[in-house]
Amino acid sequence: MPKIFVTRKIPEAGIKKLLDKGYEVEISKKDGVLTKEELIWALKEKEYDAVLSLLTDAIDKDVFDATPKAKIFSNYAVGFNNIDLEEAKKRGLMISNTPGVLTNTVAEHTFAMMIALACRLVEGDKMMRGGKFVGWEPELLLGTDLSGKTLGILGAGRIGGGVARHAVKGFNMKVLYYDVSRNSELEEKYGAVFCETPEEILKNSDFVSIHVPLLPSTKHLINKERLMMMKKTAYLVNTSRGPVIDEAALVEALKNGTIKGAALDVFENEPLLAPGLTDLPNALLTPHIASATEETRSAMSEMAATNIIEALEGRTPPNLVK
Ligand code: NAD
Repeated sequence: MPKIFVTRKIPEAGIKKLLDKGYEVEISKKDGVLTKEELIWALKEKEYDAVLSLLTDAIDKDVFDATPKAKIFSNYAVGFNNIDLEEAKKRGLMISNTPGVLTNTVAEHTFAMMIALACRLVEGDKMMRGGKFVGWEPELLLGTDLSGKTLGILGAGRIGGGVARHAVKGFNMKVLYYDVSRNSELEEKYGAVFCETPEEILKNSDFVSIHVPLLPSTKHLINKERLMMMKKTAYLVNTSRGPVIDEAALVEALKNGTIKGAALDVFENEPLLAPGLTDLPNALLTPHIASATEETRSAMSEMAATNIIEALEGRTPPNLVK
């Protein structure tokens, strides 16, 4: 019977699917991210046919070497920047991800962050808990409206498109987008306006939301120069991948008022944060939980298992990364 290694405990749905097939499933017993050495050591224990990996696992040629019989690495994430895709291709190894099932959840989290920034929810909560509320004041914690404002989207794929829909349908916002390919559906359905450059987005948006994958071309897409192009009143939201923003440059920009605020779910050197980030009242931080709902994490678990089953039964997994 096929043997599957799961690099960390995930919601039961997918594990059950694998067990129902009669597969032998070994789940890492460590309550944490396996170091590369630990992962290699664990993979060498048995001749695994497939690995269910997480975005926190760095999967490279040494890891592939440790499990020569494996046909597929099924990543429990839509992003796959943690995997050396070229090396996998060379070896004819299949890599799969979990697109689509988390789109709405991440789009909702992105919007939750935008609303929290605009309404200064976290600052208000902190004030209450700190016993600093002395009664209603005419100019206490003034925020900003979303309605009527311009949202600029960098990377208008599945999640970026979902965010655009909420912005237009729910908040009557105007949407601009920049992407390497044009999204005609977004233009037709939501009146989104395509911009030729990220600069155009940054100069003209009240909120900027990032939804590109992490690639060499998107690393530090937002840097000091580009932050300086944004409106002083603008907010930046990132639920994509941390290294898309030069985090140290963002800390400076938030400190000296180059932009008004930022909400981050992902960080350049997770779980470490750029020095000074947590001291900033205009930074809203969540611990990489944009897809973390019961429903979505279960659906991701099932999808990751399905990709393994399809590969091991000789069919093409539905979410093969090319
Ligand atoms: P997607 O592939 O549907 O969309 C990505 C879009 O980015 C595409 O339209 C693509 O054309 C565009 N793009 C690629 N390179 C670009 C570039 N250099 N400049 C501009 N646009 C570019 O992916 P998705 O499902 O929308 O997910 C987007 C990303 O969100 C994932 O890659 C992942 O890293 C991240 N994500 C984060 C979380 C989280 O927990 N915070 C959860 C899910 C996904």
